[in-house]
Amino acid sequence: MQKVLINDITLRDGEQAAGVNFFPKEKLRIAEQLVKLGVPIIEAGFPIASDQDAEGVKFVAQEFGKDIIISAMCRAVFKDIEVAAESLGGAPKGRIQVVMGTSDIHLKHKFNMTREQGLNMSVEAVRYARKFSDDVEFAAEDSTRSDLQYLIAVCEACVKAGATTIELPDTVGYAVPEEYFKMINAVVKALPPHVTVSTHCHNDLGLATANTLAGVQAGAKQAEVTINGIGERVGNASSEEFIMVLKAREDFYKIDINYINTEEITKISKLIEELSQIKIAHNKPIVGKGAFLHESGIHQDGLIKSPQTYQLLDPKDVGLEGYQLVIGKLSGKHALKERMKTIGIELNAEQTKKFSVFFKDHAAKKKIITDEDIIHLFEKFKER
Ligand code: MN
Repeated sequence: MQKVLINDITLRDGEQAAGVNFFPKEKLRIAEQLVKLGVPIIEAGFPIASDQDAEGVKFVAQEFGKDIIISAMCRAVFKDIEVAAESLGGAPKGRIQVVMGTSDIHLKHKFNMTREQGLNMSVEAVRYARKFSDDVEFAAEDSTRSDLQYLIAVCEACVKAGATTIELPDTVGYAVPEEYFKMINAVVKALPPHVTVSTHCHNDLGLATANTLAGVQAGAKQAEVTINGIGERVGNASSEEFIMVLKAREDFYKIDINYINTEEITKISKLIEELSQIKIAHNKPIVGKGAFLHESGIHQDGLIKSPQTYQLLDPKDVGLEGYQLVIGKLSGKHALKERMKTIGIELNAEQTKKFSVFFKDHAAKKKIITDEDIIHLFEKFKER
């Protein structure tokens, strides 16, 4: 099976989410968890942005840059590259990532440059970065709104200048899956086989994970993702979604992601929620509160008989204890009986039937019913 490498960019794009700021020591703590998760590449920051950013990259590179790839972002500017290289501190697996826009929108409005000038600037930057590291990634910013022939020409030139990874970001979340597939496929085919093409997708239209999957189907061998999907605006492709799709649907994608320790997902997700202060939505796939909660009686009954009936994923795979059966007005008597058993109250069939009617009347008034609520209701039921 083809292996796809995860490049976790939570510490860089994730940190660029409005209001998020990871202190260098927090970056170290996150990187430690990412290593436990098993990611082979971490993009640790944008060193020229601030002293704190430079320090964060330095901490992470010092601690982990021997074992896994630690990447630092730069614009196609010599000073950026020098500061990035300094932050990486000669870590054996330090990677310099050079970013330059390739769309006419970026060339005209950001750089006031012609396509030819943009190409030359990219090539010179890649060549300069190679003086500091053998591992250079070139990112064609706004690739999805770039002219395809020009994009390919820039990527080819950057590979000749020494880039070994080519990243094709959907910077503004513009692409749809079929289109992203076609673009990645065209670039993969144009470049020599030793080059790794990488996805990088934003979620402005809710398509970041779908686009990332289309990208790896098209031949990208690296995927840039963030924990909880945090990142610029509404974020990036979320790491846990991408990983669990490939795991749950290995039969379809046939992509090897087995180096990831998925049981660590919940832990790192909670850590990022805490340190970023971005709350995970109840209905967020994989890590949202609702992911393994069941209230409806039909579903609970099915789950008790066999989990496959109403749940695709095994909660243990993401580091949770098990399914959570919520007892509420929609729950059936079967679920109630099971729940009573775990509290230590055994009911016979007749009692179960009567208590479940009483329970439903009273449960309708409350949203979430705790074990204490059930005991209390059962006491009331007995006193009638
Ligand atoms: Mn981005």
